[in-house]
Amino acid sequence: MIIKKSADEIDKMRTAGKVCAKVFEEVEPLLKPGTKTKDIDALVEKVIRSEGCVPSFKGYRGFPGSACISLNEEIVHGIPGRRKLREGDLVKLDVGAIYEGFHADTAWTFYVGDEPPPAVEKLMRTTEDSLWAGIGAARAGNRVGDIGHAVQEVAEAAGFSVVREYVGHAVGRELHEDLQIPNYGPAGRGPVLEEGMTLALEPMVNVGDWRTEVLDDDWTVVTADGALSAHYEHTIAVQDGEALVLTARA
Ligand code: MG
Repeated sequence: MIIKKSADEIDKMRTAGKVCAKVFEEVEPLLKPGTKTKDIDALVEKVIRSEGCVPSFKGYRGFPGSACISLNEEIVHGIPGRRKLREGDLVKLDVGAIYEGFHADTAWTFYVGDEPPPAVEKLMRTTEDSLWAGIGAARAGNRVGDIGHAVQEVAEAAGFSVVREYVGHAVGRELHEDLQIPNYGPAGRGPVLEEGMTLALEPMVNVGDWRTEVLDDDWTVVTADGALSAHYEHTIAVQDGEALVLTARA
């Protein structure tokens, strides 16, 4: 069953979402060569807690960090640690916060260095565009399949592939609520989107093949072919018929 939220509950998620947006703002200056990923994680946790929220990911199924930090060919679920960022790294930072029992979940891709090379810039721009295409399709009366179809069209038109084995999800009192939202597939399929649904849309787009593997740490998901991947995620609410982005960045 897809759990719909009241306006009051959506407001709580929006507060959590604003805190996540603030996390990105505060963390961005740290995303430079020499920074250890565990220091990024520590700042993420500090900002979330200083705003009266709790990190969604800390301890979730035993995850040790407050942020998932995935580099380059790593797609999602990277564990923060002693590893240092290097010039040219592509950093996928995924954070979640709980405010008064409600989660917001968002991810962004950052380049370490001044200007990404054109191929990297294209991957970043396309993946963000694919997210916005998915958000545009998340309207009341549309179906879940319309979201994935819109994402896939944008990603594949640019010559990239969309990860299949990890998908978006409903979000609210639980980080992952009932409803999977693939980033691929035919339009017009799946449950109808209705007022009050709250969804985390999160395309993961690969330069090479869509297939993935999990590293020996049992968390880090990488591209099977070792090519680059990007990840953007927003939590949205279907409100007044359209997608309201709860984790919007300034
Ligand atoms: Mg998510």
